[in-house]
Amino acid sequence: MKEFEAINRFFTRPSAVDLGIGDDAALLRVAPGHQLAVSADMSVAGTHFFENAAPFDIGWKTMAVNISDMAAMGAQPKWATLSIALPAMDSVWLDAFAQGLFACCDRFGVSLIGGDTTRGPLNVAINILGEVPHGKGLLRSGARAGDDIWVSGELGQAALWLQSRQGALRLSPTAQAAFAEAMHRPQPRVALGLALRGVAHSVLDISDGLLADLSHILNASQVGAVLDWQAIPKPDLYGSRLTDAQLQHAVLAGGDDYELCFTAANEQRAELAALAATLRLPLTRIGEVTAASGLRVLDGQQVLCVQTRGYDHFG
Ligand code: ADP
Ligand code: MG
Repeated sequence: MKEFEAINRFFTRPSAVDLGIGDDAALLRVAPGHQLAVSADMSVAGTHFFENAAPFDIGWKTMAVNISDMAAMGAQPKWATLSIALPAMDSVWLDAFAQGLFACCDRFGVSLIGGDTTRGPLNVAINILGEVPHGKGLLRSGARAGDDIWVSGELGQAALWLQSRQGALRLSPTAQAAFAEAMHRPQPRVALGLALRGVAHSVLDISDGLLADLSHILNASQVGAVLDWQAIPKPDLYGSRLTDAQLQHAVLAGGDDYELCFTAANEQRAELAALAATLRLPLTRIGEVTAASGLRVLDGQQVLCVQTRGYDHFG
């Protein structure tokens, strides 16, 4: 199979754009009064996924992590390009990869509108584009002292799966199976991101771990934070025996969560509780933004860890 056959067979589908795949460039129409939100994320074999990972999962996850950036921006994801380097034209692999990619596109209303296909070590790069009403984008820089800090879903599942797979800890078989889903099929929080427009003061998605990512909000907003370890939503471990340190590391620094972390005024508590019920997605208050800089995690009176910048200081 040649390059153009593969593009036609696996990546070209009817879509509603003015001009999609097949010409030198796609042509898009941005709704009046909106800004174009643009982001990119690349997945490299051996770095972001195991070389022999299921191609469906690679397709789903690479698209999902891009869509997650639109969610974190309060943007409606709309279009994506796919640049892919493949060691060989393996149609069985490509078919499964495309199914995973388009399953995620379909779930979130994204059209694939172009890309590039070359030979090389397996590497999948996606550009995602979305729309946000002018001035309504959810930035990292808007957190204010006194804001509540919120997080969606539960943290740490994907990290626990990875550490177990790497032999660093042992999960029960039930936990291992449950957390594989979180690792391979993350669900970008698009509906939440859209609902947070005009409500949250700052938002981002957690890809590198809660503390590292929250630090980006704190730095951009020139504030600090105190988190309550007890309040942070942790996964059901299904009988796995973990040390406190293992659980803390996965929940606070693990990464690959793709939940949203955001700050909002105290007056929004009732509205956010109602939103959680509507979305059927847990939203949990985990701490408070402080005028003093630095990020502290408290377990009761005890300081669990103190982080001033980056995540080198953790542990
Ligand atoms: P060019 O020579 O202009 O770079 P290509 O031959 O690379 O164009 O691609 C032909 C068409 O197929 C273009 O519209 C391009 O956007 C699209 N395309 C190429 N690879 C992919 C891919 N992996 N996924 C989606 N569209 C692709
Ligand atoms: Mg090209």
